[in-house]
Amino acid sequence: MSESDISPLGRGGFHCSLCDVRLPNSPTLNDHIKGKKHQKLLSVRRTRKLQQERSVFVSGFQKGMSNLEITDYFQKFGTVANVIMDKDKGLYAIVEMESNKEVEKILSLPQHSMNGQKLRVKHREYKEFKYIPKKKQDPGEKQFIDFEELSWALCQVVDVDEQLKKLLELFEFTDSERMLRKLIVSLIQEVFSEFFPSCKVLLFGSSVNAFDIHGCDMDLFLDLENTTTYQANASATAETEGVKDAHFESQSEDSILSDIDLKISTAAEILEVVATVLQKCVPGVHKVQAVTTARLPVVKFIHKESGLQGDISINNRLAVRNTTFLQLCASLDPRVRPLVYTIRHWAKQKHLAGNPFGGGSLMNNYAVTLLVVFFLQNRTTPILPTVNDLKEHAGEEDQCIIDGWDCTFPRNGSKIEATTNTEGLCELLAEFYKFYAAFDYAGTVISLRDGKAHLVTDFIGPDSDKQFRFGPINIQDPFELSHNVSGNINERTAQRFKRQLDEACKYCRSLQYQRKSTKKKAWGIVRLLQPLSSTDCSPAPSPSLDHSPGKEMSHGENMLSIPFKLLCLSEQTKKRLHGSQDFREVWFDKVCHAVLYVMESILKCSCSYTEENNTQINNAEINSLDEAKNKEVKISSGLKRPNPEEEIAETSSNKRSRTEAPLYQGEVTWQCAVWNRIWIGRRKIRRQLRYRTNESDSDNCGIISSLETEAKITEAILQQEENSDKSSPLVTFRLSAFLVGGNEDTRTMIRVTPIQDSTLFVEFFHFLESFIPKMIEKCIEKSD
Ligand code: ATP
Ligand code: MG
Repeated sequence: MSESDISPLGRGGFHCSLCDVRLPNSPTLNDHIKGKKHQKLLSVRRTRKLQQERSVFVSGFQKGMSNLEITDYFQKFGTVANVIMDKDKGLYAIVEMESNKEVEKILSLPQHSMNGQKLRVKHREYKEFKYIPKKKQDPGEKQFIDFEELSWALCQVVDVDEQLKKLLELFEFTDSERMLRKLIVSLIQEVFSEFFPSCKVLLFGSSVNAFDIHGCDMDLFLDLENTTTYQANASATAETEGVKDAHFESQSEDSILSDIDLKISTAAEILEVVATVLQKCVPGVHKVQAVTTARLPVVKFIHKESGLQGDISINNRLAVRNTTFLQLCASLDPRVRPLVYTIRHWAKQKHLAGNPFGGGSLMNNYAVTLLVVFFLQNRTTPILPTVNDLKEHAGEEDQCIIDGWDCTFPRNGSKIEATTNTEGLCELLAEFYKFYAAFDYAGTVISLRDGKAHLVTDFIGPDSDKQFRFGPINIQDPFELSHNVSGNINERTAQRFKRQLDEACKYCRSLQYQRKSTKKKAWGIVRLLQPLSSTDCSPAPSPSLDHSPGKEMSHGENMLSIPFKLLCLSEQTKKRLHGSQDFREVWFDKVCHAVLYVMESILKCSCSYTEENNTQINNAEINSLDEAKNKEVKISSGLKRPNPEEEIAETSSNKRSRTEAPLYQGEVTWQCAVWNRIWIGRRKIRRQLRYRTNESDSDNCGIISSLETEAKITEAILQQEENSDKSSPLVTFRLSAFLVGGNEDTRTMIRVTPIQDSTLFVEFFHFLESFIPKMIEKCIEKSD
């Protein structure tokens, strides 16, 4: 096993990046490593690596060159084991020889040529082995160009602007792909019209919004507005009119479809019928499945011949309209499409967006596209108008209200004046990363209606829409204003998003981005589009992975981030904060109080406030902590470990003093000590406590809150360890809270720095990483 395949996760779990599985604990990890799958993949990887080392990458030959001709040429240097040509373009070939020696021989020749054509021959780039489980593979995925192919094509063009255009060219539909989709839709339309008279089947989403890519899913809207009745007996008509072909599974009318009254049926019931019609009456469609529990219920299907995946929904008129809006944006400036394609692909490669299975905590492509549109609205000379500006240009016939939301904009861009902005694509892409790397996500709401980022506190007043689901990234839908398009994003994805933006921003400042490499190295957008390895997908860098305990770790800085969360605040605080600029400070103060509460009252650590920041680590600090501990020993009636009951009394006195405490400002630091291994075995005790509570809880009273449970768990651990004879702290550390600064961020950061070298600090910090943010949220929620 390679050590690097296994990385620890929080709570004692592991991740095997080779097999892409999570293992909950060490015994399952050991079983997994000895298991068939892991061993098989190890051996496949070894073989692939050897094959890669024995291969060369060849390009520059004439189009249409055959596998045989290439084999013939390289036979001169030894035995050719295999030749793999790129799928259809004749751009490159990978030639595998029987041994490394033969590869050396090939590469030692300064120039190769075939039929008078100079060849470029180089070492095959090492491509990290990645296991893709078969069943998870997207049916459209096979049509995607792979990274090696893409980077080769992008490196051939003259500059970065051309690279973006090339990427668009390689990804967008061909005419036949577009035609195929239209045919599938008209086939569905024909059959559905029999069952749902006057219905319309409309394509929306990436198939038609001008941001199509090979193999993207087909989003379909079944418009039943003019359909008053459903005709279950249409199956007979459909058959006689020859709609069904050989694929049609002949069924008797009764067994095919049941009757349903459209006026009183729920969306889920209608979709069940849609699924049946699709399955039984539309030729060439299979794997039909109604997913009625999702936020947006759909019927999923796959078109057999092409492998295309489709979704049919019935309540999605707004999406059809926002598709037209994106089409309009794309038509207003030729820079929009190449930029969106590149940024969407970057986001996909960095595992930030474009989850092919939908849902989850990744951004979807719609959200990414809105980010690009907003950025283009915000250039000093805007490239795209705001939605409100567009509305000004709309005629009578463009007026459109859907579900009460104003969706008015002109049907085409002919009346809209072209921008005078002349920035190139290379510059715009770099500016995009710069713009969003310095963006205040949690503290603002991105509005495409007026092209501004509004303070979240503007949205929490009495007149504001209460439904808006605030999250670490807030993008207001340009039409359905109460909808946060990125409301599904979790903190982890948001952190990764920011980290990737920072990296991209830095890279775009380098010469490697701006200039074509003369040394045949990857340049321009190629480096931005490099796929992430699975280990790069973690959130903030974790100390336990890269540092050997006690060395760099002891003086390393370990950060916890506590994002601003409106949901934790009481209605009263929200009211007070309405429109206020000070919400960062208010949040900071609440986090500071909560941190202290969690450390002292829940984790039973000793904490002493210190005025000085960044003081030298010295023995005096440790002594002062020892004194703190002695005090604790005294108040706990001579017991070595604090007595839980008295501890509770102490906790309430802590509470009192904290309510009287002044507001925390600036950077706040505490010196802290942990006396017991309070991070070990919590899960087990938590389970036991829950079990016990349920037992004695038959009358459903006294349900313990999570804060109290966690305090009890710590007490249980302290009692277990009571007999041990430890008199000095296990871990001493400094805890500092500070705001990230300016308008760029809303998080309160907590820096945890070990005071003494301690291997246990790594374990302890690992625990804090997942424990503290959740506890702080709960604590603020409860106390506010
Ligand atoms: P792709 O399918 O290539 O990922 P897409 O643009 O089709 O890109 P989907 O997730 O399939 O993205 O969504 C289809 C359409 O549904 C979008 O184009 C948009 O019109 C609408 N849509 C998707 N997500 C949202 C959302 N969060 N809020 C509002 N509309 C959305
Ligand atoms: Mg789609």
